[in-house]
Amino acid sequence: MIEFHHRALPWNVVFGPGKLATLPAELDALGYKRALVLSTPNQRSAAQRLTDMLGSRAVGVFAEAAMHVPADTAVAASATATEFGADCTVAIGGGSTTGLGKALAVKHGLPLIAIPTSYAGSEMTNIWGITADGRKSTARDAAALPKLALYDPELTLSLPPKFAGASGLNAMAQAVANIIVKRPNPFIEPMALQAVASLSQGLPLIIAKPDDIDARSQTLLGACLAGASIGLGATGLHHRICHTLGGTFNTPHAETHAIVLPHSVAFNARAAADGSAKLARALGVQDAALGLFELAKGLGVPTALSEIGVNQADLDTVAELATEKPVNNAGPVTHENVRALLDNAFHGSPPRP
Ligand code: NAD
Repeated sequence: MIEFHHRALPWNVVFGPGKLATLPAELDALGYKRALVLSTPNQRSAAQRLTDMLGSRAVGVFAEAAMHVPADTAVAASATATEFGADCTVAIGGGSTTGLGKALAVKHGLPLIAIPTSYAGSEMTNIWGITADGRKSTARDAAALPKLALYDPELTLSLPPKFAGASGLNAMAQAVANIIVKRPNPFIEPMALQAVASLSQGLPLIIAKPDDIDARSQTLLGACLAGASIGLGATGLHHRICHTLGGTFNTPHAETHAIVLPHSVAFNARAAADGSAKLARALGVQDAALGLFELAKGLGVPTALSEIGVNQADLDTVAELATEKPVNNAGPVTHENVRALLDNAFHGSPPRP
């Protein structure tokens, strides 16, 4: 039976090496005149170069973006925007910086231009979040979607290959969540499969040759399509587990997704057998879960939760929190089978269905 509900998102995407140079013209076309440039402290110099390039179209830099958008940071950024009379923000960076821009868009009405430099994919979604009193809340809001996502693969050349691997597998998880399902959406599934193919081909090339702009382009395209897949589609048990780990134990975002992914794919292999077979074909392997496990090892990213600060004693709590509310997932979810998945992921053992 074919059955689906599809709602589009109003994306505006510019993609290509050197495309950063088109930003002034893009801002003019959108009618923005006073941009506040956002970045993390790490990427302050990239933000400053962008500000210099924008000349009178930029009013300043706010370089305090941090993981999971602390509410205090959003308040400070909003005060800076008001002080400088900004009419939009330009976020240059990974998901943390895009996330700050989204919070300003939703809570303070400042439209966002996103210039992604990692593979987080947030720029293609309307999902935003903010963290207050140690709790992150997330929601979908039309205002969170950037007015423009400008992808310039040259900006990703500075992304260290090891983080590129983890970030790319974070993107992969967004695509996979919309392939390993019982009823694939016919608009999203082809895009998600293309994302998997681009990421799985591009990422090993980056490790082999970090300066290869074609490999960087292919991987960034994969991230764009993966973000688009989750922007239109859904998440399941995989994202529930990763958000529980990140929210409760503050594990690093990209690495957490990279470690859990092969295990969450194995978990659903029987219930979503068609999706699993299509995923394997897109990866160019026999078995999707094992293929993802081998890919992660080849990229040199951590493959065990024990490597990123999770204690074995915490696994019961993670299983409990992840299963306390119903989760949309192909395979049936119980405390016991999630606990078994976590045990495997903790030890970095090969994934088991
Ligand atoms: P990040 O943005 O925190 O980046 C990690 C570090 O890498 C930062 O210091 C950053 O400045 C640096 N960096 C990024 N690109 C670089 C480059 N090209 N060169 C050098 N350094 C670079 O990490 P992330 O994994 O990109 O994003 C994680 C955050 O994004 C999390 O908070 C997560 O919840 C959020 N996220 C949100 C969505 C969504 O749809 N809302 C989707 C994915 C991720």
